[in-house]
This record gives sequence, structure tokens and C-alpha cells, in this order.
Amino acid sequence: MALGNGLRLTWVGHATWIMETPGGKRVLIDPWVTGNPVVTDEHRDPGPADVFLLTHGHSDHIGDVVELASKHSPEAVLAMVELGGYLDGKGVENVVAFNKGGTVEAAGLRFTMVDARHSSSIEDGGATVYLGEPNGYIVTLEDDRRVYVAGDTSVFGDMALIGRLYRPDVAILPIGDHFTMGPFEAAEAIRLLGVRKVVPTHFGTFGLLTGTPNALRSEASDVTGLEVLDVIPGGTIE
Ligand SMILES: [Zn+2]
Repeated sequence: MALGNGLRLTWVGHATWIMETPGGKRVLIDPWVTGNPVVTDEHRDPGPADVFLLTHGHSDHIGDVVELASKHSPEAVLAMVELGGYLDGKGVENVVAFNKGGTVEAAGLRFTMVDARHSSSIEDGGATVYLGEPNGYIVTLEDDRRVYVAGDTSVFGDMALIGRLYRPDVAILPIGDHFTMGPFEAAEAIRLLGVRKVVPTHFGTFGLLTGTPNALRSEASDVTGLEVLDVIPGGTIE
């Protein structure tokens, strides 16, 4: 199988994923279902999760955190310091706020916060609230494989450093363009990371996000052994 050994990635839609780990844990990445135009009825509620993993404060990434955390009581809600503080103030329990370079353990998994190039804010009470820097994560699974969750980002040279230090087996990379990198930059991200299993995200949600998995395959056609693992919303890679 593409991922194997019990690792499953289900695309709820846009940047929202459910990661099921070899040890049977569930990690919910950037939950946004309310108003998300591509979410299937089955995933209007993505269900319980052991960990919520948040990359930045934009509403298309944290839109349903408060409600879903209240409903499902995850063991940990992982976020950048400022975003974590904001959510804590909204009544979200079990927030673990940390910063880039740090590693925390939750549900028997390890999460290392790494850089991302983007912005992070939310509209609240008619004002724009800035929520610290955006970030990505390296998730170290029970079988020591590593998944790089890039978050929203452009390509940046230090992806080579992430590749050198963490040697990710799988990378979830945005390809939609406009608000993140598109296929041209994502292909260079793949080269810098040295990763061979790539899961495209943050595309196709609405018309502005024009990047496609096939465009990524074309841009990265020089990368030997590359597997671009794409599904439609509601689909699972395993
Ligand atoms: Zn986004």
C-alpha cells in the first residue's frame, strides 16, 4: 500500500485531515468543516480525535476547533503560543502551546514544530487579531516514521534543513497556489525535503486554488520514485 503499517490519511477537505496512526491514534489536522464547500456529509463531524494539530489561526484552519474540541475532548490541542493562548481564552481545554524547534509528546506521538512561511490571524469582534507565526509539524509515529505537515506555506530553503534533520517519509504539502505555494514551488519543496511520498492539500476548494496533483506530477517529473498520493474529499490514503 501507499503508506502501509496502519497509517491512514483521510481528506476531510481543504486543509483538514484525519491521520490514523499505526498505534490506533487519531490526529485531526486544521479542522474546518462549517462552510467548507467540499466536506462530505460523513465528515461534517470528523469524529473524536486524540490530538488536534493546528498550523495557524486562519479561519479555514481553525474554524471548528472550539466546537469540536468541546464535543470530543482531545487529549491535546497543539498550537503556536499566541494561537494557543487565543483558543485557551475561548474555552478550549488541553491546549499545548509551544514554538518552533520544540517537540512535545501527546497520545504516544511526538510533534516537532517547524517553520512555515505564511501569516496567521483571525477576524474577531470586527478586529483583526494576530496569532503569532504560522508553522508546520513533523509528526513522529509509533513506528518512528515521520510525517511532515507543512501547513500553509511558500517553498523556503530551510525545507532542506527539515529534510536533513527529520527525513520525513511522507509530506502533506499545499499545492493550490494563490494563498500557498502551487505545483511549481511544491516540486522544489519535494527536492529540498528529499521526500518520496507526497500528499497534496489546500487545492480545489474554490476557484482561486488552481493547483492540481497532475500539475505537481508534471513539475516534479524529474524526481525519481516520487509518489503523489491524491484523493478526493472523503477519501482515504492507506
Ligand atoms: Zn489556508
